[in-house]
Amino acid sequence: MGETKLRILELYSGIGGMHYAAELANVGAEVVFSVDINTSANEVYRHNFKQTNQQSRNIESLNANEINKLKPNFIMMSPPCQPFTRVGLKLDVEDSRCSSFLHLLDVLPHLETISFILMENVVGFETSEMRNAFTKALKSCGFYFREFLLSPVSLQIPNSRNRYYLIAKKFTNFAFGTETDIMTTFPSNSCEVTMPVGQKTLEPYLEKSFADEELARFLLPAKTLMKYWRIFDVRQRSDVSSCCFTKAYSHYAEGTGSVLQHVSSESFHEKFAEFEKDGNVAHLKLLQLRYFTPREIANLMGFPAHFSFPENTSLKTRYRLLGNSLNVHVVSRLLKILLE
Ligand code: SAH
Repeated sequence: MGETKLRILELYSGIGGMHYAAELANVGAEVVFSVDINTSANEVYRHNFKQTNQQSRNIESLNANEINKLKPNFIMMSPPCQPFTRVGLKLDVEDSRCSSFLHLLDVLPHLETISFILMENVVGFETSEMRNAFTKALKSCGFYFREFLLSPVSLQIPNSRNRYYLIAKKFTNFAFGTETDIMTTFPSNSCEVTMPVGQKTLEPYLEKSFADEELARFLLPAKTLMKYWRIFDVRQRSDVSSCCFTKAYSHYAEGTGSVLQHVSSESFHEKFAEFEKDGNVAHLKLLQLRYFTPREIANLMGFPAHFSFPENTSLKTRYRLLGNSLNVHVVSRLLKILLE
């Protein structure tokens, strides 16, 4: 980009997944302003990005004048996804959690310096009224856009996290795809952006060692095992995939993310068969089934080694914040594609 340094406005910033993606893309970008309403997310954000102008604000309180003064040329954002998720009520634009996003669509025509937008959301957004309102606003402001449904699996990262992405730029059209198609792979014209970054198996993403009392914090309690053993998605260290970790991980058993068999020397099928026969949970205990730690989930999501939580962030909050965040590698690739 040379002289024209990217000035990013990071909206719905959470724990800064977008900020890390911009760093990873290494395109000389600076986050000039970052906004989120959630105080525990903001604490984590500020703990890691001490230099960034991060504000605890409702996005509905932002106006064009204030934004224009910062001269941002890039908006990165992950608006709240509950209005569109499969489990939600699908109230779509009627949902009060959409009002800040609708506010942004009103502000957009008055933003004089914005040339690029990258947006992340859940699968389901692509068929929502909100999506139609968004793309209509983009077009009327002179933006070209492309939409994607992508998972880190396509970069050989052993974790599923299928998400909706939209990239948009002003003035020039994209050299690939069309505005009526949703792409499910990265465009293949650039090998730099399609090359896998993943380590294939889970092992390299896992904690190298555990003190016993540390391990005890993450082991599935006997009670939980007895009740939910059928529905847990148990993974081995050598496995090449894991389920998407959501904000309810370790809180609800069903569909919130995989658990790990900590001891790889025991046979999973043998121990489960024995447990099914006599109902003695001691068989399962030998497997040391445990939750992935927040650090391990952060590793799978592409957060750098220097990312950390403030000590006072509870375990439950760490899982919740990571579950709301995004895969840094996927976003970083999209950012490069957008700037190509
Ligand atoms: N991309 C972020 C996570 C986004 S989740 C990350 O990497 O962590 C959506 C975020 O939107 C949440 O953190 C939530 O607190 C925030 N949010 C929702 N409504 C908001 C509003 N009206 N104003 C500011 N932030 C809001």
